Amino acid sequence: MTKLQAFDVLFRKIEAVRHISAALAVINWDALTTGVPEKSLPAHGATMGWLSGELFSLIVSPDSIESVETLEALDSELTANERAMTREVGRRYRKLMAVPPDEFQAFNALAAQAQTVWETARAKSDYDMILPYYEKMFDYQRRLCDWYGYSKHPYDALLDDYERGADVETLDRFFGALREKIAPLVKKIGANKEKPKEIEGLFDIGKQKKLMPWLTDFTGYDRARGKTGEVEHPFCTTINRHDVRITTKYHEDNLLSALFSTIHESGHAVYEQNMAEELERYGLADTPSMGVHESQSRLYENMLCRSRAFAGRLLPKLREQFDYFSGWDEDALYRAINIARPSLIRIEADELTYSLHIMVRYELEKALMAGEIQAAELPGLWADKYEELIGVRPENDAVGVLQDVHWSGGAIGYFPTYAVGTAYGAQFVNAMRKTVDVDGCLEKGDLAPVNGWLKENVHRHGAVLLPGDLLKQATGEPFDPKYYIDYLGEKFTDLYMV
Ligand code: ZN
Repeated sequence: MTKLQAFDVLFRKIEAVRHISAALAVINWDALTTGVPEKSLPAHGATMGWLSGELFSLIVSPDSIESVETLEALDSELTANERAMTREVGRRYRKLMAVPPDEFQAFNALAAQAQTVWETARAKSDYDMILPYYEKMFDYQRRLCDWYGYSKHPYDALLDDYERGADVETLDRFFGALREKIAPLVKKIGANKEKPKEIEGLFDIGKQKKLMPWLTDFTGYDRARGKTGEVEHPFCTTINRHDVRITTKYHEDNLLSALFSTIHESGHAVYEQNMAEELERYGLADTPSMGVHESQSRLYENMLCRSRAFAGRLLPKLREQFDYFSGWDEDALYRAINIARPSLIRIEADELTYSLHIMVRYELEKALMAGEIQAAELPGLWADKYEELIGVRPENDAVGVLQDVHWSGGAIGYFPTYAVGTAYGAQFVNAMRKTVDVDGCLEKGDLAPVNGWLKENVHRHGAVLLPGDLLKQATGEPFDPKYYIDYLGEKFTDLYMV
């Protein structure tokens, strides 16, 4: 195969992948925002399955790997985009080929069943129901570690699958620092008698909705290149770079929920909208990792919009809609949007305690993959770790080990991306502050310089650079969790005066 033929094959495949992915995203958006008629569910599933199968066979075919190997041999002649394209297609091909096809099919069937069983098990708080499925799932994942390969710890194989470059050695250091600096702070705050004023009562959903255009504009989300919708579990989805959609779930009794989840999804969307157009044909208008994507959403949600300066912008907007805030000042609002308390449920956790919830899962997954613990021991170990790290103990498994869907779906190694991504975010903001007056931008209500920095240093690069290289190029240093831990420590020590 010649170089030209290899490029021709890959460009054609990448174009087909892009169009099929766009179709899948539209169908999925439609299903989640407007629903699928009950009787159409099997046909809907068949369409999704068929299109996904096409994606799979585009990558897993002999001409894909022949093209990749041809270009790998010419590495020094390739541009940065061509090299990254070759790297990404090669990686996907090799990962898919590493798993024996009958095992892959058995896994998909198991995951589909296990997720249904998990819903009932959680509703009944009955761990024994899910246990046989977890045993099979963890066993499959341990074999997956061997198929993918690793040099030190089996869990490394799964970590790297979700977060390129992540391994037990780096994450032990990261979580070790959290255990040392953040866990004691959480306990101190939990014991603090003085509690900040909370936002309580019912907030009309129609009025909440009126705040959203202002809020999404504030983050830099281009509403002319997307759509918004309402769903049970908010998400962001990309049809193409000119159609990036975000969703919200409104709660009458929880005003902050829709506000901050909309900021979070806008952060994801701004990233997608800002990727360089020329990356599309290389299949690189994408993120290099889940953690990098999450760094963008959490950076807007927490580091920018849970700041004192943003509270000052938010308060008059809240007053326009709700008389409730007439007696509030900026400081009270800043404290109310940053209430930290030990809790049991990860998805409801605050900024300070969130990564400790992830740490519980990280330590259990690591021990499971090393074969040091068994699935049957999880409920007890889970409760012990919550007590040790966060200072609370679940009364039952529904609010303990059964709360997340991830394990039943086979997503082991996924959780750490949430915490690592947040830490990337803190490192980006720290570097940005050297040239951008971040607080000044927030006070003025103009995030253009912040967005400009992110576009230049993070967004436009898509998946060309791997996470480690992206961080180094943007911040001048390799990944260092110090920025995140310092940020959390300073912010919450000041807030709670502990
Ligand atoms: Zn997110």
